[in-house]
Amino acid sequence: MNNRVHQGHFARKRFGQNFLQDDSVIQNIVAAIQPKKSQALVEIGPGLAALTLPVCDYLDHLTVIEIDRDLAARLIANPFLKDKLTVIEQDAMTVNFTELSKKMNQPLRVFGNLPYNISTPLMFHLFEYTHAISDMHFMLQKEVVNRLVAAPNSKTYGRLSVMAQYYCQIIPVLEVPPSAFKPSPKVDSAVVKLIPHQTIPYPVNDINFLSRITAAAFNQRRKTIRNSLGQLFTAEQLANLNINLDLRAENLTLQQYCELANAYSQMSM
Ligand code: SAM
Repeated sequence: MNNRVHQGHFARKRFGQNFLQDDSVIQNIVAAIQPKKSQALVEIGPGLAALTLPVCDYLDHLTVIEIDRDLAARLIANPFLKDKLTVIEQDAMTVNFTELSKKMNQPLRVFGNLPYNISTPLMFHLFEYTHAISDMHFMLQKEVVNRLVAAPNSKTYGRLSVMAQYYCQIIPVLEVPPSAFKPSPKVDSAVVKLIPHQTIPYPVNDINFLSRITAAAFNQRRKTIRNSLGQLFTAEQLANLNINLDLRAENLTLQQYCELANAYSQMSM
Protein backbone atom coordinates (compact mmCIF):
# COMPACT_ATOMS: atom_id res chain seq x y z
CA MET A 1 0.00 0.00 0.00
CA ASN A 2 1.25 3.46 -0.84
CA ASN A 3 1.53 6.10 1.86
CA ARG A 4 1.47 9.86 1.52
CA VAL A 5 3.51 11.74 -1.04
CA HIS A 6 6.97 12.95 -0.12
CA GLN A 7 9.23 14.79 -2.60
CA GLY A 8 6.99 13.39 -5.32
CA HIS A 9 7.51 9.87 -4.00
CA PHE A 10 4.86 7.66 -2.42
CA ALA A 11 6.33 6.13 0.76
CA ARG A 12 6.05 2.36 0.33
CA LYS A 13 5.06 0.57 3.48
CA ARG A 14 6.25 -2.79 2.23
CA PHE A 15 9.78 -1.40 2.04
CA GLY A 16 9.55 0.13 5.53
CA GLN A 17 9.89 3.66 4.14
CA ASN A 18 9.96 6.33 6.86
CA PHE A 19 12.10 9.17 5.58
CA LEU A 20 14.21 11.29 7.92
CA GLN A 21 13.22 14.94 7.82
CA ASP A 22 14.76 16.42 10.98
CA ASP A 23 18.02 18.23 10.15
CA SER A 24 19.42 18.16 13.67
CA VAL A 25 18.85 14.39 13.93
CA ILE A 26 20.48 13.93 10.52
CA GLN A 27 23.48 16.04 11.60
CA ASN A 28 23.84 14.06 14.81
CA ILE A 29 23.83 10.77 12.93
CA VAL A 30 26.46 11.98 10.45
CA ALA A 31 28.57 13.28 13.36
CA ALA A 32 28.35 9.85 15.01
CA ILE A 33 29.40 8.09 11.79
CA GLN A 34 32.36 10.45 11.19
CA PRO A 35 32.82 9.54 7.52
CA LYS A 36 36.38 9.90 6.19
CA LYS A 37 37.52 10.06 2.56
CA SER A 38 39.74 6.99 2.58
CA GLN A 39 37.07 4.72 4.09
CA ALA A 40 34.72 2.24 2.40
CA LEU A 41 31.27 3.40 3.45
CA VAL A 42 28.13 1.48 2.49
CA GLU A 43 24.61 2.76 3.10
CA ILE A 44 21.65 0.38 3.31
CA GLY A 45 18.38 1.95 2.16
CA PRO A 46 19.43 5.47 1.10
CA GLY A 47 15.83 6.33 0.13
CA LEU A 48 15.53 10.02 -0.70
CA ALA A 49 19.16 10.62 0.35
CA ALA A 50 18.53 12.29 3.74
CA LEU A 51 21.76 10.73 5.08
CA THR A 52 23.40 10.07 1.72
CA LEU A 53 23.82 13.75 0.80
CA PRO A 54 25.46 14.98 4.04
CA VAL A 55 27.65 11.85 4.27
CA CYS A 56 28.80 12.42 0.67
CA ASP A 57 30.02 15.88 1.67
CA TYR A 58 32.89 14.05 3.38
CA LEU A 59 33.54 11.44 0.68
CA ASP A 60 34.59 10.98 -2.93
CA HIS A 61 32.73 7.70 -3.16
CA LEU A 62 29.83 5.93 -1.44
CA THR A 63 28.19 2.58 -2.16
CA VAL A 64 24.44 2.41 -1.53
CA ILE A 65 22.08 -0.58 -1.54
CA GLU A 66 18.46 0.24 -2.37
CA ILE A 67 15.68 -2.24 -3.15
CA ASP A 68 13.17 0.32 -4.48
CA ARG A 69 13.72 0.72 -8.21
CA ASP A 70 12.24 4.22 -8.34
CA LEU A 71 14.46 5.46 -5.53
CA ALA A 72 17.54 3.82 -7.08
CA ALA A 73 16.76 5.61 -10.37
CA ARG A 74 16.44 8.96 -8.54
CA LEU A 75 19.81 8.45 -6.85
CA ILE A 76 21.51 7.58 -10.13
CA ALA A 77 20.07 10.77 -11.67
CA ASN A 78 20.80 13.05 -8.69
CA PRO A 79 23.18 15.77 -9.96
CA PHE A 80 24.83 16.19 -6.53
CA LEU A 81 25.38 12.47 -6.05
CA LYS A 82 25.72 10.64 -9.33
CA ASP A 83 29.50 11.02 -9.65
CA LYS A 84 30.09 9.73 -6.14
CA LEU A 85 27.60 6.87 -5.85
CA THR A 86 27.72 3.22 -6.77
CA VAL A 87 24.07 2.19 -6.57
CA ILE A 88 23.42 -1.50 -5.93
CA GLU A 89 19.76 -2.01 -6.76
CA GLN A 90 19.22 -5.12 -4.69
CA ASP A 91 17.70 -6.57 -1.52
CA ALA A 92 20.38 -5.99 1.17
CA MET A 93 19.48 -9.43 2.57
CA THR A 94 21.08 -11.00 -0.53
CA VAL A 95 24.23 -8.87 -0.66
CA ASN A 96 27.55 -10.61 -0.10
CA PHE A 97 29.42 -8.09 2.06
CA THR A 98 32.67 -10.08 1.88
CA GLU A 99 32.72 -9.63 -1.88
CA LEU A 100 31.93 -5.95 -1.47
CA SER A 101 34.77 -5.49 1.00
CA LYS A 102 37.17 -7.33 -1.34
CA LYS A 103 36.18 -5.02 -4.19
CA MET A 104 36.92 -2.00 -2.00
CA ASN A 105 40.12 -3.50 -0.59
CA GLN A 106 39.22 -2.72 3.01
CA PRO A 107 36.71 -3.47 5.76
CA LEU A 108 33.35 -1.79 5.33
CA ARG A 109 31.69 0.89 7.39
CA VAL A 110 27.98 0.11 7.04
CA PHE A 111 25.20 2.50 8.01
CA GLY A 112 21.52 3.12 7.40
CA ASN A 113 18.12 4.07 8.65
CA LEU A 114 16.96 0.49 8.33
CA PRO A 115 13.54 -0.65 7.17
CA TYR A 116 12.05 -1.71 10.51
CA ASN A 117 10.13 -4.64 9.02
CA ILE A 118 13.37 -6.49 8.24
CA SER A 119 15.89 -4.90 10.62
CA THR A 120 16.42 -7.99 12.81
CA PRO A 121 16.91 -10.54 9.96
CA LEU A 122 19.10 -7.96 8.20
CA MET A 123 21.34 -7.66 11.26
CA PHE A 124 21.57 -11.48 11.47
CA HIS A 125 22.60 -11.43 7.79
CA LEU A 126 25.27 -8.80 8.53
CA PHE A 127 26.61 -10.77 11.51
CA GLU A 128 27.72 -13.42 8.99
CA TYR A 129 30.04 -10.80 7.49
CA THR A 130 31.49 -9.17 10.60
CA HIS A 131 35.01 -10.24 9.48
CA ALA A 132 34.56 -7.83 6.53
CA ILE A 133 33.02 -4.94 8.50
CA SER A 134 34.76 -2.43 10.77
CA ASP A 135 31.61 -0.81 12.18
CA MET A 136 27.88 -0.28 11.65
CA HIS A 137 25.56 2.60 12.54
CA PHE A 138 21.86 1.85 12.36
CA MET A 139 18.61 3.62 13.08
CA LEU A 140 16.30 1.00 14.57
CA GLN A 141 13.18 0.78 16.67
CA LYS A 142 14.20 1.83 20.18
CA GLU A 143 12.84 -1.44 21.49
CA VAL A 144 15.26 -3.34 19.21
CA VAL A 145 18.19 -1.23 20.45
CA ASN A 146 17.13 -2.03 24.03
CA ARG A 147 17.20 -5.73 23.16
CA LEU A 148 20.61 -5.45 21.45
CA VAL A 149 22.26 -3.97 24.55
CA ALA A 150 20.31 -5.89 27.21
CA ALA A 151 22.21 -7.68 29.97
CA PRO A 152 21.12 -10.98 31.58
CA ASN A 153 18.35 -11.03 34.18
CA SER A 154 16.14 -8.55 32.33
CA LYS A 155 12.98 -8.93 30.28
CA THR A 156 14.58 -7.37 27.19
CA TYR A 157 17.51 -9.84 27.23
CA GLY A 158 16.89 -12.42 24.53
CA ARG A 159 18.28 -14.29 21.57
CA LEU A 160 19.06 -11.05 19.69
CA SER A 161 21.10 -9.76 22.69
CA VAL A 162 23.15 -12.96 22.88
CA MET A 163 23.79 -13.27 19.14
CA ALA A 164 24.58 -9.57 18.65
CA GLN A 165 26.88 -9.43 21.68
CA TYR A 166 28.63 -12.59 20.49
CA TYR A 167 29.76 -10.68 17.39
CA CYS A 168 29.84 -7.02 18.40
CA GLN A 169 30.36 -4.37 21.00
CA ILE A 170 27.13 -2.37 21.03
CA ILE A 171 26.87 1.32 21.85
CA PRO A 172 23.56 3.26 21.87
CA VAL A 173 24.10 6.65 20.23
CA LEU A 174 20.90 8.68 20.07
CA GLU A 175 17.15 8.47 20.70
CA VAL A 176 14.89 9.72 17.92
CA PRO A 177 11.18 10.60 18.20
CA PRO A 178 8.57 9.64 15.57
CA SER A 179 8.31 13.31 14.50
CA ALA A 180 11.80 13.10 12.93
CA PHE A 181 10.37 10.99 10.09
CA LYS A 182 7.84 11.35 7.32
CA PRO A 183 5.59 9.44 7.49
CA SER A 184 6.08 9.11 11.28
CA PRO A 185 6.43 5.57 12.56
CA LYS A 186 4.21 4.50 15.49
CA VAL A 187 7.23 3.74 17.66
CA ASP A 188 10.26 5.54 19.10
CA SER A 189 13.56 4.99 17.32
CA ALA A 190 17.21 5.01 18.30
CA VAL A 191 20.60 4.98 16.62
CA VAL A 192 23.09 2.34 17.66
CA LYS A 193 26.74 1.67 16.82
CA LEU A 194 27.92 -1.92 16.46
CA ILE A 195 31.65 -2.63 16.41
CA PRO A 196 32.56 -6.21 15.47
CA HIS A 197 34.95 -7.70 18.04
CA GLN A 198 38.50 -8.01 16.69
CA THR A 199 38.76 -11.12 18.82
CA ILE A 200 35.53 -12.90 19.70
CA PRO A 201 35.41 -12.98 23.54
CA TYR A 202 33.84 -16.46 23.82
CA PRO A 203 34.42 -18.23 20.50
CA VAL A 204 32.21 -21.17 19.58
CA ASN A 205 33.19 -24.10 17.33
CA ASP A 206 29.96 -23.89 15.37
CA ILE A 207 27.76 -20.79 15.35
CA ASN A 208 24.77 -22.90 14.30
CA PHE A 209 24.79 -24.57 17.70
CA LEU A 210 24.76 -21.22 19.50
CA SER A 211 21.88 -20.18 17.27
CA ARG A 212 19.96 -23.40 17.95
CA ILE A 213 20.51 -23.39 21.71
CA THR A 214 19.51 -19.75 22.15
CA ALA A 215 16.41 -20.35 19.99
CA ALA A 216 15.41 -23.36 22.11
CA ALA A 217 16.01 -21.48 25.39
CA PHE A 218 14.33 -18.17 24.51
CA ASN A 219 11.41 -19.66 22.56
CA GLN A 220 10.35 -21.06 25.93
CA ARG A 221 11.76 -18.32 28.12
CA ARG A 222 9.31 -18.93 30.97
CA LYS A 223 10.42 -22.54 31.35
CA THR A 224 13.42 -23.60 33.41
CA ILE A 225 16.59 -24.53 31.52
CA ARG A 226 16.02 -28.15 32.58
CA ASN A 227 12.85 -28.09 30.43
CA SER A 228 13.65 -25.66 27.62
CA LEU A 229 17.00 -27.33 26.85
CA GLY A 230 15.79 -30.81 27.79
CA GLN A 231 15.74 -31.92 24.14
CA LEU A 232 19.40 -30.96 23.68
CA PHE A 233 21.06 -31.78 27.04
CA THR A 234 20.49 -34.21 29.88
CA ALA A 235 20.18 -32.78 33.38
CA GLU A 236 23.58 -34.33 34.14
CA GLN A 237 25.28 -32.61 31.20
CA LEU A 238 23.86 -29.26 32.28
CA ALA A 239 24.97 -29.83 35.88
CA ASN A 240 28.47 -30.73 34.63
CA LEU A 241 28.61 -27.31 32.97
CA ASN A 242 27.74 -25.74 36.33
CA ILE A 243 24.40 -24.57 35.01
CA ASN A 244 21.69 -24.34 37.63
CA LEU A 245 18.78 -26.30 36.17
CA ASP A 246 16.20 -24.03 37.79
CA LEU A 247 17.40 -20.91 35.98
CA ARG A 248 15.51 -19.49 33.00
CA ALA A 249 16.84 -18.45 29.58
CA GLU A 250 17.22 -14.82 30.64
CA ASN A 251 19.50 -15.75 33.56
CA LEU A 252 22.30 -17.30 31.45
CA THR A 253 25.22 -15.15 30.30
CA LEU A 254 26.69 -14.98 26.79
CA GLN A 255 29.65 -16.98 28.12
CA GLN A 256 27.36 -19.73 29.43
CA TYR A 257 25.51 -19.95 26.10
CA CYS A 258 28.86 -20.24 24.31
CA GLU A 259 29.98 -22.98 26.71
CA LEU A 260 26.72 -24.82 26.04
CA ALA A 261 27.26 -24.48 22.26
CA ASN A 262 30.79 -25.90 22.54
CA ALA A 263 29.67 -28.74 24.81
CA TYR A 264 26.96 -29.57 22.27
CA SER A 265 29.45 -29.61 19.40
CA GLN A 266 31.71 -31.99 21.43
CA MET A 267 28.73 -34.29 21.94
CA SER A 268 27.85 -34.21 18.23
CA MET A 269 31.34 -35.26 17.09
N1 SAM B 1 17.74 6.55 4.41
C1 SAM B 1 16.45 7.14 4.14
C2 SAM B 1 16.12 8.13 5.23
O1 SAM B 1 16.72 8.02 6.30
O2 SAM B 1 15.26 8.96 5.01
C3 SAM B 1 15.35 6.09 4.00
C4 SAM B 1 15.15 5.18 5.18
S1 SAM B 1 13.73 4.15 5.07
C5 SAM B 1 13.44 3.81 6.79
C6 SAM B 1 14.35 2.56 4.58
C7 SAM B 1 14.97 2.50 3.17
O3 SAM B 1 15.41 1.15 2.93
C8 SAM B 1 14.01 2.81 2.04
O4 SAM B 1 14.66 3.60 1.09
C9 SAM B 1 13.65 1.45 1.45
O5 SAM B 1 13.26 1.48 0.11
C10 SAM B 1 14.94 0.70 1.65
N2 SAM B 1 14.79 -0.76 1.75
C11 SAM B 1 13.75 -1.46 2.26
N3 SAM B 1 13.99 -2.78 2.23
C12 SAM B 1 15.23 -2.91 1.70
C13 SAM B 1 16.04 -4.04 1.40
N4 SAM B 1 15.63 -5.29 1.66
N5 SAM B 1 17.25 -3.84 0.84
C14 SAM B 1 17.68 -2.57 0.57
N6 SAM B 1 16.96 -1.47 0.83
C15 SAM B 1 15.75 -1.63 1.39
